[in-house]
Amino acid sequence: STQIQLVRRPKGWPEPEDFRIAEVAYGELAPGQVRVANSFLSVDPYMRGRMNDAKSYIPPFVLGETMTGGAVGRVVESAAEALPVGSVVLHQYGWRDLVQEDAAGFTVVPEIPGVPLSLRLGILGMTGMTGYVGLTAIADLQPGDTVFVSGAAGAVGTATGQIAKLLGAGRVIGSAGSPEKVRLLTEKYGYDAAFNYKDAPVRQQLKALAPEGVDVFFDNVGGDHLEAALDVMNRDGRIAACGAISLYNSTERAPGPDNLAKVIQQSLTIKGFTLGGYTHLREEFGTRMAEWFGQGKIAYDETIVDGVEHAVDAFLDMMRGKNTGKMIVRV
Ligand code: NDP
Repeated sequence: STQIQLVRRPKGWPEPEDFRIAEVAYGELAPGQVRVANSFLSVDPYMRGRMNDAKSYIPPFVLGETMTGGAVGRVVESAAEALPVGSVVLHQYGWRDLVQEDAAGFTVVPEIPGVPLSLRLGILGMTGMTGYVGLTAIADLQPGDTVFVSGAAGAVGTATGQIAKLLGAGRVIGSAGSPEKVRLLTEKYGYDAAFNYKDAPVRQQLKALAPEGVDVFFDNVGGDHLEAALDVMNRDGRIAACGAISLYNSTERAPGPDNLAKVIQQSLTIKGFTLGGYTHLREEFGTRMAEWFGQGKIAYDETIVDGVEHAVDAFLDMMRGKNTGKMIVRV
């Protein structure tokens, strides 16, 4: 099996030398084990945090060992009754083309005719659910709310804007890092307005597009986006602090927002969340998303990179914004 291992902890932006491609041989299946050929691997921003030797909500990657992460694949050999050959499974043994482990580490997912398996890693899976949970359980979205989503053209952001609309939001505004992405937000993803954060200060652009203020801010970016949102938040506004990708590769301590006092003046709620704490909403998300998806109401994009040996390039391209929608590695 071809597997990607972390061999050095990156400082700032990861470099190719921080990783190695290893060939790992598996023996005969032990009772209860299955062998799974991965079809698609996920690369996600949170993985950058796991490359550091720092305590967080998930432990760091172990140096010299194969990294883990979301993946979807098919059982090709089985010594476990519950998981016959051919089963499609979702699991955390990513960054490799083949895995052999106890059946308990895999979750069977139904195959939907005509729907690519990769969507289980994106709009129908983790990143789609992040948008749903952030808007509902965290930000308590109300009909008519004005919503601002930062990082709006990525996997979470493309899900969030359209789910906000489906749940009855009023004006939905998004930010992204290229003119093509900005165009997609309004033309494909239901955003009412969008801007390129590289064109002019976020503060200036957001204020112009949100003359009535913002009720819900779904933050994927942090930094200048959080400051800009605080400026325009309406009374009793809610901020779902989902991510802060602008800071993940920074080696300096980020200066704090200079207007955090707005939280007091406007009686704002800022609430952070990690999706792992909301697994009880998986069924609710699955049901509602399946209905919307089945009715053709859900748009999605994927940026696909071929080959497990290019998984690190895919990860870095995603961190640099080369993806639209979910970045996926096809094995
Ligand atoms: P994306 O698909 O959004 O990919 C990352 C994107 O971030 C890039 O495409 C790039 O787009 C943008 N970006 C990179 N650097 C910057 C910067 N300095 N300023 C603004 N934008 C930047 O990734 P995901 O959808 O998987 O994740 C989005 C966010 O959600 C991340 O912060 C992630 O950590 C968080 N997250 C949190 C979860 C939770 O449980 N709380 C679960 C899943 C994700 P562009 O071209 O627009 O710059």
